[in-house]
Amino acid sequence: MYRSHNCGELRATNVNTEVTLSGWVQKSRDKGFIVWVDLRDRYGITQLVFDEERTSKELIEQAQNLGREYVIQVKGKVIERASKNPNIPTGDIEILVSELNILNEAMLPPFTIEDKTDGGEDLRMKYRYLDIRRNPVKNSLIFRHKVTQEVRNYLSKEGFIEVETPYLIKSTPEGARDFVVPSRMNAGQFYALPQSPQTFKQLLMVGGMDKYFQIVKCFRDEDLRADRQPEFTQIDCEMAFIEQEDILNAFEGLTRHLLKEVNGVEVEKFPRMLYDDAMRLYGNDKPDIRFGMQFGELNEVAQHKDFGVFNNAELVVGIAVPRGNSYTRKEIDKLIDWVKRPQIGALGMVYCRCNEDGTFKSSVDKFYDQDDLEKWAEVTDAKPGDLICVLSGDKNKVRTQLSALRMELAERLGLRNPKEFAPLWVMDFPLLEWDEETERYHAMHHPFTSPKPGQLELLKTDPGAVKANAYDLVLNGNEIGGGSIRIHDKETQSLMFDYLGFTPEEAKAQFGFLMDAFQYGAPPHGGLAFGLDRLVAILGGQETIRDFIAFPKNNSGRDVMIDAPAPIDDDQLNELSLKLNLKS
Ligand code: ASP
Repeated sequence: MYRSHNCGELRATNVNTEVTLSGWVQKSRDKGFIVWVDLRDRYGITQLVFDEERTSKELIEQAQNLGREYVIQVKGKVIERASKNPNIPTGDIEILVSELNILNEAMLPPFTIEDKTDGGEDLRMKYRYLDIRRNPVKNSLIFRHKVTQEVRNYLSKEGFIEVETPYLIKSTPEGARDFVVPSRMNAGQFYALPQSPQTFKQLLMVGGMDKYFQIVKCFRDEDLRADRQPEFTQIDCEMAFIEQEDILNAFEGLTRHLLKEVNGVEVEKFPRMLYDDAMRLYGNDKPDIRFGMQFGELNEVAQHKDFGVFNNAELVVGIAVPRGNSYTRKEIDKLIDWVKRPQIGALGMVYCRCNEDGTFKSSVDKFYDQDDLEKWAEVTDAKPGDLICVLSGDKNKVRTQLSALRMELAERLGLRNPKEFAPLWVMDFPLLEWDEETERYHAMHHPFTSPKPGQLELLKTDPGAVKANAYDLVLNGNEIGGGSIRIHDKETQSLMFDYLGFTPEEAKAQFGFLMDAFQYGAPPHGGLAFGLDRLVAILGGQETIRDFIAFPKNNSGRDVMIDAPAPIDDDQLNELSLKLNLKS
């Protein structure tokens, strides 16, 4: 028996019990005649004491030779501590050791195994198994477990069945590049790893499963912007015989359950916002509504006044920064530099101080009098003491830029409280999105998404204006889930592929199986998928998903611990009928 108790459970009530503990040496303190060792396992830390008066000299010597992170087993008696440590649950007791067995020695770890470590991120990734011994990472993994357990509990209770779908499949169009896997048995042919189980879950609906979910890995080969992973986990869900309202209710229920069980937070019914309004009011399809600072469009009140920059702009739009009038000229200049950085890309920023006495002072006083500026304040809902920041230019670009500024200022003003949860449904996304590069329309969600009723005709005349039965669930400014009501008949699906530029042959080759299935009695269906990693990070009050993934990859998609990806040898290439053609 390696242990009778773990390192987190002994208390004063256990005094005088003989116990056996196993774990890692966190640290030791050596006074010569007495040695204390902190023994650690997943459950906590228990102090061991080796004392010349009460134990043998050999045992003390053995204890003195213990290195950090040695794996040991001890037997001994629980005794009351002379000086108690109120900071840890086992702080009232210690173990007077009578026997010590070294189960394994350990090299000195390359960084300290402490809550605040001296190890940089790269080092911690390389030795992730040591990093996992640290409380912040360990606790994040335990937290993730709790979330997934609650997801399974809730969805099972609601009648959802967890079904596994294959990983070796064919391309699923979620808008990223596929990871491909060569097939040895079918030379020259490749599987694609799923970007999501989208087509399979739809086939499960044709198969009559009715309510499906799966906690599932998805793979997308995209350039990794900050805090993305090439493999990530979804809570993937689908339901049959439902309308959009049913889906929203079902998954609002799940999210509310998680907030309650995991965070102890009760949330009201989730507000809903149309995509068009989200873009107009926040410049963003995933607005953080924990704070105001809504956009005010100023075209009407700021154009036609001799200020060419505004007159020539498609959109003039501003936000009121609460108490921003206290910014010095220098601070405002810094803000202007911030929006002009290439990452944001604004050409400049106009501002207007709202003085406490109700007067205004703008950076464009030459063109605008007090009455004009008062209108700016009305439109942006600025109060005395605020600062109005105004950007102008191409509508889409300006919205993105002002949204970035809004988030940055909110961060600086401490308005993004991680303990506060503000969920929001964003509804009626456009069906299609214009892609500048390929000069074509792409499905904004994916090609299986149905247009809003009655809008199919509009596809011919104004494709960009067609709205979809598609929705996103947003939490604190992050998209945590998204889905749609699907097309479930072959004709509409073929039409969609046609509009998306697939020839009938291409559509058949890629998605023939789905269109075939639609001819065998496909029920109306729809669903959504949550990004589990992000959801867990937000519920855990963190911004970065890496800490919630046991073995994450770095920004170049590498696992630096196992050193993958890696070349394979010629035999293996031959077996796969592959020849490399590397550009040096
Ligand atoms: N497959 C979609 C995605 O990964 C989710 C859905 O439409 O259910 O975003």
